[in-house]
Amino acid sequence: MELKVLFPGFSEIIQPDNNNTRANCTCTLIKGPPNIIVDTMTAWDGPKLVEALQKNGLSPDDIDYLICTHGHSDHIGCNYLFQKATHIVGFSISHKETYFSSPDFSKGQEYVINDGVKVIPTPGHTLQDVTVIFNQDEKVYAITGDLFENEQDLDDESIWIGAGSDNEGLQRKHRRKILKLADFIIPGHGAMFAVPHMYHLWG
Ligand SMILES: [Zn+2]
Repeated sequence: MELKVLFPGFSEIIQPDNNNTRANCTCTLIKGPPNIIVDTMTAWDGPKLVEALQKNGLSPDDIDYLICTHGHSDHIGCNYLFQKATHIVGFSISHKETYFSSPDFSKGQEYVINDGVKVIPTPGHTLQDVTVIFNQDEKVYAITGDLFENEQDLDDESIWIGAGSDNEGLQRKHRRKILKLADFIIPGHGAMFAVPHMYHLWG
């Protein structure tokens, strides 16, 4: 399997007087099989998402799992493209009109896709956030959505708190968990970054 960030996310204030922002999420492909897409940007991004998949030899119907790290509009906009996939949107797991009761993320359970990929609950930004954990060549990649806004928020927590946190205590706890276990983080609104080694030593 191969991880490719199709579009790195961003967020910037465009009108300082009223804090209006321009933002879109990071969109990531794990090319398999199984093929997995994580976060589908806004509802206006369909054509560019289809084109990016084509460049990787895939069409939307080739995607087996669609995972949205949480339910905000800039992370779910093109879910409709993926008609053949199982959809995991935050804690909700569905295919067409069927909703699956297991695993139960609210009980801390994990959705194991295979030896290399699983989805784990990491609430905080919203109360139903999930993170995709991808293992390859002894390295751990965490696709976290807005649990991490960008690399800079490691040193300046006003960035992730300012981006909206439904439960700061929970978010801090799950950030810490991911920093301990991941070698690379793909954050919700910034480029992939390597986790500084000091975080792996936390007790
Ligand atoms: Zn977001």
